[in-house]
Amino acid sequence: MTYDRLVCANCAAPVSEGRCPVCRANRERLQQEGPFAGLNPMALIAALAVLVAAVALLAHQTA
Ligand SMILES: [Zn+2]
Repeated sequence: MTYDRLVCANCAAPVSEGRCPVCRANRERLQQEGPFAGLNPMALIAALAVLVAAVALLAHQTA
């Protein structure tokens, strides 16, 4: 998802234009962070490990 189509709730202008402080703050945040930026890398690894364990358990049960 890109931010160029987002409309600011404060000034009702496109966030990408940065017309008000809310726009500029949102624009900076969206430019800095990707879709997974809010996730801790360790949390991602832990989630992956849990997923692998679940798949292994399921494969063991069905085999
Ligand atoms: Zn705005």
